[in-house]
Formats: sequence, C-alpha cells, structure tokens
Amino acid sequence: MEKTFPQCGKHAARGDWLPLLRATGADLAALYARADAVRREHCGNAVPIRAIVEFSNVCANDCLYCGIRASNPVPTRYRMPPDDVVSAARQIAAQGTAGTIVLQGGETPGDGDEIAALLRRIKAEVPGLAITLSVGNRPRDVYARWKDAGMDRYLLRFETSDAALFARLHPACTLAERLQCLRDLRDLGVQTGGGFMIGLPGETVETLADNVLLCREYDFDMIGIGPYVPNPDTPLGDQPNAYAGDPDMFFRAIAVLRLANPDAHIPATTAFDAVFPDGRDLALQRGANVFMPNATPGPLRKNYQLYPGKPCIDEDAADCSRCVQARLRALGRPVAQGPSHSLKRPSTGSIT
Ligand code: SF4
Repeated sequence: MEKTFPQCGKHAARGDWLPLLRATGADLAALYARADAVRREHCGNAVPIRAIVEFSNVCANDCLYCGIRASNPVPTRYRMPPDDVVSAARQIAAQGTAGTIVLQGGETPGDGDEIAALLRRIKAEVPGLAITLSVGNRPRDVYARWKDAGMDRYLLRFETSDAALFARLHPACTLAERLQCLRDLRDLGVQTGGGFMIGLPGETVETLADNVLLCREYDFDMIGIGPYVPNPDTPLGDQPNAYAGDPDMFFRAIAVLRLANPDAHIPATTAFDAVFPDGRDLALQRGANVFMPNATPGPLRKNYQLYPGKPCIDEDAADCSRCVQARLRALGRPVAQGPSHSLKRPSTGSIT
C-alpha cells in the first residue's frame, strides 16, 4: 500500500509528525523520497549558495552549548575590519556561485551603527549581492536601521520550542524574547529565518515535533536546523546528543521539516558534515535545498568553532567554493543564479 503523508503540513499536528519522526526501514526510505519530491516540486533542482563570513566571534552571551560563549577563554577574539569584510564580499561576487553573503557573528549590545555602515558599503561596492545578517537578539529599531541600510534577510534560530529548556540553555534571554525578535523582523518586511538544534540534551521526540510546528506557525522564509554537537569547552560538553544512538533522527527531522514547510529555503547546514562525512550531501537529498559554504578568511576559522569537528577549518574561501561546486555536480544539482530570495515574499505582515 502506498504510504500517505500529512498534506504539506499546513494543518498537521504533533501527532501527525511523530510517526514520521520514528520511521525506520521502508517507511524511512519513503519519507526521504517524499521530502525530496516536495523539495523538487516547490524549490526546483537548482541550489542557492549563501557564503558565510564569520565576521566577529565577540559575544556578550554565555549560551551553554556555544564555543564562542563569552566566558570561554579558548578562542582568540576578533572583529574583521570593515575593509576585510567588503573584500570578502568582493571575492564571493567574483567567484560567481553565491548570490548572498551571510554575515554571522556573536551578539553584542549597541546601537548597530557600525553594522549599518558595513551593510551600506557592501550594497554600494558589491551591488547585486544579497545580504543576510545573523547577530542575535536586537531591539526592533536596530533591525529597522539595518533594513534601511540594505539588510535583505536575518537568521535567528529559536533553537528549541521548549521554553524551560530554552531558559536553561540561554542565561541572557527567554524564548518569548527570541520569538518577539522574529516577529519584529517579519513585521519590518525582512526575509526571516528561524530554526533549531536537533538533539539538545533534555529534548524528546515530542519537542522535535513541536519545533517543526513552530517553524510552520511562523512560516519562516528560511529554516536552518542541524545536529547539536557537544563542545568540551562548554558547560554542556559532557552531555551527548539526545539521539546519539539514532543518528537517522537528524535526517528524519529535515525530511519532516520539508513536508511541513514546502516552500521554505532549508539549508544543508555545516553541522551535518560534523556528524557524517557526507552529511550535507545527504541533507540535500532528503529535503534541504540550500548550501552555505564557509567564506571566512582561512586564518580566522579556528576561532569560530561553535562545536568540535566543524569542517573546513583548514581551508579558505576558494577551497570551499570549489568543493561546493564539485559536490553539487556529483549530485546532479545545478547552482541557482542570482540572490534566490524568499519563495514566499512579499511579506504577509505581522504574525499574530
Ligand atoms: S549562541 Fe550566539 S548568542 Fe549564544 S553565546 Fe554563541 S554566539 Fe553568543
């Protein structure tokens, strides 16, 4: 009998996703095939490339799992000078594969003027490159200033939909505050990305289903998820992934996420390569449609290790660009041209 799946997830509930998150054998193969078909139907075969520049590892927060948390003395702290960030943006544009630069950094308080100036420079000096920013919770007026300066998109993962677990892991903020930031971004008309970690200590498969539902509820333009990888330099260092004995769960999660969010941009995140040598390739065949190679200058990469085993630490931006093209060729998936904005724009306005 042919397997049935919740119809693109719009009205699916936790109980609809749980059997899929527990699928094995032929049912699991059918789930992966269905997720790949939904991805092909809604997003096409071409893969948008977003090049990540980790432009600062300075962070005021102390999230319990994070390798660049403020109190971790291991990384040497850096902030890339604006000239170097613009130079990285030029290099990305010159390579011609990525249509987006993703500026990723720690969360630091302030009025955001320096970042606004940087956004303006990139827009003026590297026209045509879309800009995604990811620097944590900020006041709405700061997000608004950044949007005016040229920010196209913003990534802010909520990490878990379990408010109590969120509070244990994030001393500086609550889940409600994080979700308010996401609503602010959406209200401002910024293409908004949420997402979560798979297998945080203390989560259950029900949490995972609720994470998927929260993504559906917020109807994110982009959704980034990836396995939790314990970092020995953090307070969670000795706590294994909740699915350490069942690594298929990482791919069940991405497949179910695709069924629930057919037209979201879903990247094959770097953390998949930390748990499987070809993890990102597998994710692209099981629901993901976006690839995000690292374009951070080589010497800085060792100081932006959110978790151990992060790939591409010894490479540089040109290596990563060549690698992603070879991987996509092997999968028979062309590189998407242009910025590949949200498949859901224009914004539908405030989430109530
Ligand atoms: S997860 Fe983000 S906000 Fe938290 S410590 Fe790491 S960089 Fe800072």
